[in-house]
Amino acid sequence: RTPGDIVRFLLLQGELITATQSLSDDMVELFAAEIGARVKLVDPGQEQEAVLSAKYFDEDDTVDPSLLAERPPVVTVMGHVDHGKTKLLDRIREANVVAQEAGGITQHIGAYQVYLNDKAITFIDTPGHEAFTQMRARGAKVTDIVVLVVAADDGVMPQTVEAINHAKAADVPIVVAINKIDREDADPNRVMQQLSEYGLVPEAWGGDTITVQISALQNLGIDDLLEQILVLAEVLELKANPSGRATGVVLEANLDVGRGPVATVLIQGGTLHIGDPMVAGIAWGRVKALVNDKGKSIKIASLAMPVQVLGFSEVPSAGDEFNVTADLSTAKTIAESREQRIRMAGYASRAASATGAKLEDLFEQIQKGETATLNIILKADVQGSLEALAESLRKLERPEVKVSIIHKAVGGITENDVGLAAASNATIIGFNVRPDRRARELAEAQDVEIRTYEIIYKVIEDIESAVVGMLAPEY
Ligand code: GDP
Repeated sequence: RTPGDIVRFLLLQGELITATQSLSDDMVELFAAEIGARVKLVDPGQEQEAVLSAKYFDEDDTVDPSLLAERPPVVTVMGHVDHGKTKLLDRIREANVVAQEAGGITQHIGAYQVYLNDKAITFIDTPGHEAFTQMRARGAKVTDIVVLVVAADDGVMPQTVEAINHAKAADVPIVVAINKIDREDADPNRVMQQLSEYGLVPEAWGGDTITVQISALQNLGIDDLLEQILVLAEVLELKANPSGRATGVVLEANLDVGRGPVATVLIQGGTLHIGDPMVAGIAWGRVKALVNDKGKSIKIASLAMPVQVLGFSEVPSAGDEFNVTADLSTAKTIAESREQRIRMAGYASRAASATGAKLEDLFEQIQKGETATLNIILKADVQGSLEALAESLRKLERPEVKVSIIHKAVGGITENDVGLAAASNATIIGFNVRPDRRARELAEAQDVEIRTYEIIYKVIEDIESAVVGMLAPEY
């Protein structure tokens, strides 16, 4: 690590220092925990010399190539609406459950694995490019191969083009599944022609794009598609280190009434075991249980496996990086330092927007002719509602009202949320979640506004009312 790295980290912590200044022992330790290093403090009182070693968060660049093993490809299905993405995903999953274990119940955990000739393929279970883009926006690289579904009777449509562009931007290769070839008006040749215009020239025409003709409805060509995915995977030489501490990414997460926070993690490195200390975003804990995509309790999760992980302190967010740490206290330290950072960001945004307003004060501010910024902390029971709400809130923006979502996450409203709201003058909006007792008390003490809802349009209605000064007070 260079002094530059340290300065960058401290900047994120809200500490403004230069590379030649000395650090407090606390800061050095925090930094070390963040990058997974051991720290030896030399000669306290003098300029600190930190000996940073044994980093484990970026294993890839230190790993001995001989430790790498082939891993299954991770596939996302994209394409225009109604072209058969869902049908295809269902078809592949069904066929496999029947083949793998009779009577197996399929569980929708955000991804699943299937096998062809003993080779695994992982499919992300949410079709479309929204999830794909969202992951990428968070810096997570999940997908190795995109299966682009194009209906043979409809051809290349706007979302087909969007999907092509998303895949290209992410530098992810595309396998085209020309679907609905059972239809009378199916015209695969026209589809191939159109694809060529977007730079996807089929192999049959001398290009390098793999195309497979299928019917998700009549179960035609599905195995051929899986085989082509495996052929491409081989070319891509997908490898990772199966030994060592597990790393991965959170695909989705929610609060389960009986089981507490549950996160589906895609394992991208190492092997995950029950009992491992772990951290994802601001959630930490010890792996209490692992559940696979067939709903079966398992003890170990390996490369490219999607697995439900139980034992988190709270609900992490989709797109969060997942790491097993050396011990539980490291996991806790990292989670807390991240939370601290979010809090700092809250302070920063408060400083930046002196006009930040609570819902209650919004009208007053607009009356004064100022641009009002509505600071919001959003908590919801599931990721889907969270995203839908955030999207609808953004649509409420107008010249005199800006909406700033300071923090959003799945889970109940906690003391931390209230602290952040107090620090950033934000209103907390809970959708199908409520504050716990301590959060309620703290909100009371700090005069933080919490509003809870069960219907999305009520949220929107209230904010619209607030803008015109007609908001009924929350009691
Ligand atoms: P999505 O919006 O891309 O997920 O599309 P769906 O999977 O929901 O499929 C849209 C419609 O097309 C549904 O009514 C499917 O039954 C139908 N469909 C999907 N695949 C095929 C196919 O191979 N042949 C025919 N004829 N219909 C299909």
